[in-house]
Amino acid sequence: MAKAFFIDTTTCTGCRGCQVACKQWKGFPGEKTTNHGSFQNPEDLSATTYKLVRMKEIEIDQKLRWLFFPDQCRHCIEPPCLESAGEPTAVYQNKATGAVIYTKVTQDLDADAIIESCPYNIPRKAADGSLGKCDMCIDRVTNGKLPACVQTCPTGTMNFGEYQDMRTYARVRLAEARRRYPKATLVNPDKVRVIYLTAFEPTSYWEYAVAEHRETDITRAVAMQRMFNPIRELFRNFG
Ligand code: SF4
Ligand code: SF4
Ligand code: SF4
Repeated sequence: MAKAFFIDTTTCTGCRGCQVACKQWKGFPGEKTTNHGSFQNPEDLSATTYKLVRMKEIEIDQKLRWLFFPDQCRHCIEPPCLESAGEPTAVYQNKATGAVIYTKVTQDLDADAIIESCPYNIPRKAADGSLGKCDMCIDRVTNGKLPACVQTCPTGTMNFGEYQDMRTYARVRLAEARRRYPKATLVNPDKVRVIYLTAFEPTSYWEYAVAEHRETDITRAVAMQRMFNPIRELFRNFG
């Protein structure tokens, strides 16, 4: 059965437990960072940082707000990155869960085009040219465990389960959140398997929190792939 995350940012404390748990489960090293004027650390996602708690101090309705956004791959229902890659040994969707998985074969493809096709600005290039991003902890999930980030979250912000259950839960939590935050919203709930609830406009949290603003670019990148994929397929079959 297809899976989904529900991430209720209204209860996130910015503790970064999810970020650390991801590193720990993956066995990824910490990164040397410098002060860039924010508590957010490191400054960005990388090929060894699949989960990043983005932090922003901002004034909304004459109040200073500290916004937290635990950023990761959204495991899109129809992933533009998969279509842009056009190579199932490099980028594929796990049928049982819906997880979008990258392999080392991504190093043979046009990494920049794949990165550009992602509306949420997620994939990052490693030193060997391959691309890295969250894989839904597919090894844990297919063995009946929760993703490491969900398992560790102490506030109930991170949730994971059956796709329809998470969608229902997201709507319930949205109704509750709107009593405190009238502008609360679910971010692209019909497009993704990682549904965020935000108290304020999603772009107040992070420029790429919501898909819409990059859709012109996606269309262009993906349109190119749609033109070339049948030719690739032909070569694959007869090559
Ligand atoms: Fe990291 Fe796993 Fe969470 Fe993805 S699901 S962000 S790989 S801990
Ligand atoms: Fe691909 Fe980006 Fe969607 Fe993740 S969020 S599945 S990297 S398009
Ligand atoms: Fe927020 Fe939970 Fe991550 Fe802590 S572990 S930063 S509360 S999502």
